[in-house]
Amino acid sequence: MGVRIHPMNTGFIKVDKGAYITMGRNYGEKVEVPDWAFLVTDGRERILIDTGMCGTERADWHHPGSYQPEGHRIDERLRGLGIGPDEIDAVVFTHLHWDHCSNMKLFRKAKFYVHSKELRFALDPHILYLKSYESKRLGISPPFDGVEFEEVSGEYQLNRYMLLFPTPGHSPGHQSVAVETDEGVYVIAGDAIFSDENLEPDEERGLPFTPMGRYVDVFDMFESMERIFRMADRGRILPGHGRCVGRRGHYP
Ligand SMILES: [Zn+2]
Repeated sequence: MGVRIHPMNTGFIKVDKGAYITMGRNYGEKVEVPDWAFLVTDGRERILIDTGMCGTERADWHHPGSYQPEGHRIDERLRGLGIGPDEIDAVVFTHLHWDHCSNMKLFRKAKFYVHSKELRFALDPHILYLKSYESKRLGISPPFDGVEFEEVSGEYQLNRYMLLFPTPGHSPGHQSVAVETDEGVYVIAGDAIFSDENLEPDEERGLPFTPMGRYVDVFDMFESMERIFRMADRGRILPGHGRCVGRRGHYP
């Protein structure tokens, strides 16, 4: 069997379109976006990219109106594919925002990969990002509390078909994953490319893509988007919150 990517929708998040998706435009418009995690497998190894979001109560605290329907938790999604949590060999985190790493401790046998910059920031976030990382300073416990990670910095060839590469900007140590398949190279972008709108050309600015609204560094964000567009064809970019991702049950 060739390499295959299975997207798994772990719930829905309500965001302000201008603040999160389309930089400088559509402020005040609330939209609901899916929250994706991915299983990548060659039939032997089973690797997750992110573990998705938490249950409705906590999700609604983050972004009012967000929810996780029944059966959407990451382990329930995997069960639908006939896979138990102990069968996951590794989890690669694009970043450690709450909606990408919830329930990670379910995967007791997996190695956890994260960019070292992201881990450092997540353990001691800037005051503006305490909620995003569920910081202990808010009296709660983040999903990664007490977890041991394999830290990567720079590009990292995880196996023969997966390359992790830094795409900072949305968060300080964000990374994306290029997956070589029989259909060409797919990029699992994480939030370095947030949603469908970001894949569209920005006519007004004369750009081949639409810059995102949510970032810690606008220039890093821009460069990371450029890099992803160089590495994958437009149809082969899988945004972290793209409705387009659900078009297919698996890639290829
Ligand atoms: Zn994020």
